[in-house]
Amino acid sequence: MEKSSNFIIEEQIQQIIQSKLNPTPKEVNTILEKALKLNGLTLEEAGTLLNVSDPNLLDKMFVVAKEIKDAIYGNRLVLFAPLYISNYCSNNCLYCGFRIDNKDLERKVLSIEEIKEETKIILEQGHKRVLLLMGEDHQKCTLDYFIDAIYAIYSVKDSKGSTIRRINVEIAPLSEDEFKKLSEVPIGTYTVFQETYHKATYEYMHPRGPKHDYTWRLLTMDRALSNGMHDVGIGALFGLYDYRFETLALIQHAKHLDETYGIGPHTISIPRVKPAKNAPASYNTTYAVNDLDFKKLVAVIRMSVPYTGIILSTREPAYLRNELFNIGVSQISAGSKTSVGGYKQAFNAKEDDTEIGQFKLNDCRSSGEVIKDLIKMGFVPSFCTACYRLGRVGADFMELSKPGLIKTHCHPNGLTTLKEYLVDYADDETRFFGDKLIEEELSKITHKKLREKTKEYLHRIEKGERDLYF
Ligand code: SAM
Ligand code: SF4
Repeated sequence: MEKSSNFIIEEQIQQIIQSKLNPTPKEVNTILEKALKLNGLTLEEAGTLLNVSDPNLLDKMFVVAKEIKDAIYGNRLVLFAPLYISNYCSNNCLYCGFRIDNKDLERKVLSIEEIKEETKIILEQGHKRVLLLMGEDHQKCTLDYFIDAIYAIYSVKDSKGSTIRRINVEIAPLSEDEFKKLSEVPIGTYTVFQETYHKATYEYMHPRGPKHDYTWRLLTMDRALSNGMHDVGIGALFGLYDYRFETLALIQHAKHLDETYGIGPHTISIPRVKPAKNAPASYNTTYAVNDLDFKKLVAVIRMSVPYTGIILSTREPAYLRNELFNIGVSQISAGSKTSVGGYKQAFNAKEDDTEIGQFKLNDCRSSGEVIKDLIKMGFVPSFCTACYRLGRVGADFMELSKPGLIKTHCHPNGLTTLKEYLVDYADDETRFFGDKLIEEELSKITHKKLREKTKEYLHRIEKGERDLYF
């Protein structure tokens, strides 16, 4: 079926940005009051907030975003690890270390055996979710290879007998037939970033290869959702064009999917461009987004599409990640490697992959350190994968999540999966603080039966049972 890409209307977005300059405190306060009702914002309202620069109003926006995040997600943060299986790429994205013109990069496709080795190392860090990625090269790494990799990952058990329970994927846009094929495979979310929604910038940044076609990429999620996929994730690479434009376009994209398919995006990712070797557009970009504007755009996304997960990667430094957790981020990577075979290399040589990865990482703490820090800050690191495994996906998930009911499942599941982590992988200090946190969190479960059942599950996990969830 012919699909239209006219849901991103550049003139409308530019017009909103220009007409909403210098908003008054009254205008902003009215919008913030509306945001607290958890029904989202219009594009005009989001555009108004993106033009705020008064520090007091910005602080107010962050407080409201936190209230919204707390109301929907509580203090949970879902954790995952990215796994790169090939850096071959036929595209030439000007910002990426995997681009075809980077002749200094040693190219590699992992064998199935090597993929299993990487998975084992990830599992031994306590992860249960993987985000599987590769460059776009239809000769070197086919969809069949990618699907074999998925089954290989699920087949691996670590020393505790644990397995990866959910694989999300991030690969180049697929055709309708390819989506039909992928929809038969047990994956969670399919993600692709538009990189920039601004067509002229997009075409400049992607001079070569299949990725040059703006519309093909923009219609990826339409093809996915009309060909059997349930959960999709969108994103923009901030720093290629005006962040206000990208944020409004992301919101417009999310609304289009929700209105057309009854399923908004499961997640929105907000990567910022980081330096990458031999990638000219990754250095000193005209549109580099500073930390304050970055916090603002996260707050605006949280208010505009309150029920959509926001993903933050280890591209960002620890201090900023900690702030963003309070403003709206709900899923994070930890202990990441962005080079192919990077987990094994780091495990063997303890070296970092700054030079050989896709781009430079700024939060280089191990998973264990991230988890310990989160617990000490009062966040519940969650390894939950229950919704996906119980078939609470797509429209079913949206139905459940919109009225906030998800909290009654996610909160106890966050606690049981954290307990598994503490028993199986944590050091003594993390275990001490983690158990204390679980005790405090239990008292927040007001439903008596649910609280008792959660306690029972925690006890059974302590005694050796695993994978108990609601
Ligand atoms: N190759 C596929 C594609 O481009 O859709 C799969 C995803 S690619 C491995 C992952 C993402 O990394 C890209 O979509 C891009 O947004 C991001 N990325 C590339 N270079 C980057 C850089 N220098 N800094 C931050 N993120 C970058
Ligand atoms: Fe290839 Fe993706 Fe990097 Fe572009 S962003 S060069 S498509 S890996």
